[in-house]
Amino acid sequence: MGIFSVLVDAPAHSGLTGALDYTSDKALQPGQLVRVPLGAREVMGVVWDGSPSTELDPAALRAAHWVCEDLPALNGAWRQLVQFAAQYYQRSPGEVALQALPPSLRRLQTEQLQRRLKPPKAKPVAKPKTKAHAKADGASPAPQDVAGAAGTPEDARLDARLEAWPASMPEPTPQQAEVLATLARSGAGGRTHLLFGATGSGKTEVYLRRMQAVLEADAQAQALIMVPEINLTPQLEARVRGRFEPLYGPGCVVSMHSAMTPAQRLKAWLAAHLGRARIVLGTRLAVFASMPGLRLIVVDEEHDPSYKQQDGARYSARDLAVYRGHLEGAEVILGSATPSLESWFQSRPATAHEPGGRYVRLVMPSRVGHSVQPDIRCVDMRLMPKGTLFAPLLLDAMRARMDGGEQVMVLLNRRGWAPVLLCTECDWKSACPQCSAYRVFHREDRTLRCHHCGLTHQAPKRCPSCDHEALSWQGRGTEQLHGFLAEWLAQGRHPSGRPYGVMRLDADSTRLKGSLERQLAQVHAGEVDVLVGTQMIAKGHDFQRFGMVVVADPDGALFSVDFRAPERLFALLLQAAGRAGRSAQGPGGRRAEVWVQTRQPGHPLFAALRQHDYPGFAAQQLQERELAGLPPFMHQALVRAEARQLEEALAFLTEAREQGLQMAGAPVTLYPAVPMTMQKVANAERAQMLVESPSRAALQQFLTAWSDALHEVRGRHRRLLRWAIDIDPQLI
Ligand code: ADP
Ligand code: ZN
Ligand code: ZN
Repeated sequence: MGIFSVLVDAPAHSGLTGALDYTSDKALQPGQLVRVPLGAREVMGVVWDGSPSTELDPAALRAAHWVCEDLPALNGAWRQLVQFAAQYYQRSPGEVALQALPPSLRRLQTEQLQRRLKPPKAKPVAKPKTKAHAKADGASPAPQDVAGAAGTPEDARLDARLEAWPASMPEPTPQQAEVLATLARSGAGGRTHLLFGATGSGKTEVYLRRMQAVLEADAQAQALIMVPEINLTPQLEARVRGRFEPLYGPGCVVSMHSAMTPAQRLKAWLAAHLGRARIVLGTRLAVFASMPGLRLIVVDEEHDPSYKQQDGARYSARDLAVYRGHLEGAEVILGSATPSLESWFQSRPATAHEPGGRYVRLVMPSRVGHSVQPDIRCVDMRLMPKGTLFAPLLLDAMRARMDGGEQVMVLLNRRGWAPVLLCTECDWKSACPQCSAYRVFHREDRTLRCHHCGLTHQAPKRCPSCDHEALSWQGRGTEQLHGFLAEWLAQGRHPSGRPYGVMRLDADSTRLKGSLERQLAQVHAGEVDVLVGTQMIAKGHDFQRFGMVVVADPDGALFSVDFRAPERLFALLLQAAGRAGRSAQGPGGRRAEVWVQTRQPGHPLFAALRQHDYPGFAAQQLQERELAGLPPFMHQALVRAEARQLEEALAFLTEAREQGLQMAGAPVTLYPAVPMTMQKVANAERAQMLVESPSRAALQQFLTAWSDALHEVRGRHRRLLRWAIDIDPQLI
């Protein structure tokens, strides 16, 4: 009989920070899964490294219940990744380890698990598909508003897309070939590369080629490809499957994301863990996938904020991917047309005076084929009457594009009809009673909805304060733009004789399962002339017929308190521009255009945007950041606290800070606690406190030392609702 350390799921706050000791009459290996008693419950645990204290009396310990011996142990690299993530993000290793496993794995009994471990019955390799087109004929008359047509079965849609992406490979363009050659030379040994490639320059093609080279070189090799939001890019999944299933069989690609059912997630996880799947395609949670043969990690759109987990262990999947590559000697490719300033800085070339960054920068400036980057222009909205939704000149240009058979995209990053409903007689505004925010007016279902806490009411017809019989609104959302365009276009007909198709695509229109896929299929099929939407429409889609992109009202982000807001805006606008003119032929034969409506046409951000000049924009931002002492020149952590009373949240943070200030030494600054900009959400008052240091190591050292004090102080502030620590926070 031996004593073993076992990790169980216990959040750092609960006081159980390390592994617990159990006995077992079998010899357990680190990384094996066991079931152990914890209080009155039985939970799953992972046998962990490190020998328990020799003074322990086995008789005083409880026994680990069973082991599924057929399930291979989680390997050393995986355990190190978990250990690192827990330490870096200030959580317990048990929480990180168990959260990284599929939830249903924890509930399975031995026999059920053994059944799932059996090798799958051999299936014939993908047979050529001939039928089962999704709605590709486009024969149905396009209704005025095409948002709600009936769907087709999931399989048929996927099949149709597979046909659109044949397994055959295009010849690499010269710039792709050069990048691939560099990767072949320097990829081994866990190096990180930043692939800075314009939208449409063929980055995805580079990922696929590189994956294939790595998988071909070693029959055990596995590749991980991460994407921000998988449901926004069903095309990519089809493209990966279309490329690799004919080569390695139907089970060679598995997906991992939170929208999958528990059973699907378990199946995918086991396939990766057992080495049966060669490729894992997933969102941020896939960074923890157990992949014994991992040789390559791709992080597509590496700048995307969704790689940062926003609760629990607030890890950055991109940063962990880089660490994991280093740990396992696996090649890492971070790809983007607008890299995060952190990655851009890390990939800086060496100069005469200074060594370069740790990443290798690879550049693909031009688009594939004859398609060129769209022309970007600003429309000065200061010259328009107040409240103008679209400049008349812009409407003319839109109409011309549509009549020429092209599609137009209108981007506005705000849902609903208007961000605030108000009374012109008195001062009433649709404030949320639970948050320091206004409730948004949704005209479609006549509701007032708070986008922060979710509180929803029927919108009043009369002023709730003075009973005035008419209310008005301020500002605009996607509903309003859609409504305006639908009304405007209803007065005319497309030259081909049909009515114009106007569609809105945002989180509201896609709430029902399957509706996003349905809407996208309609866009691809050409049933839509103008597509209005939030950032959902700007990301990743390989649209072929958009000749014009309109950015309706981007100015808010220019004045945000968050220093990363300009970076995010630039990325969004360039990504939106990337949806235009992707087809090499160009649908109307004219150069695609992006029109930005702004009251700040002289802003340097727009100047850089017009030139498609990310490096120029980045250089200017980095200079500002360096002067202001902000990331990537500074490393930050935020401690956040919520309570019913603001004073209670502030008191906790202030006491925590006092404790921290007594820990002398490292160059670490602790700023006084302040209320958050969005001070109240769902009746919780929120405050935060910034901790920073120019040295990442010093910050880490301080946080580790401070951690016990934080938990102890928290114990004295019982009225606190929640607190959390966010390392490398993305939202200030
Ligand atoms: P990115 O990921 O950089 O936006 P993609 O890889 O999606 O670019 O490529 C843009 C378009 O060009 C796609 O339609 C793709 O099929 C096509 N493409 C990519 N590489 C090649 C190539 N070497 N030859 C021909 N077409 C290509
Ligand atoms: Zn009123
Ligand atoms: Zn609210």
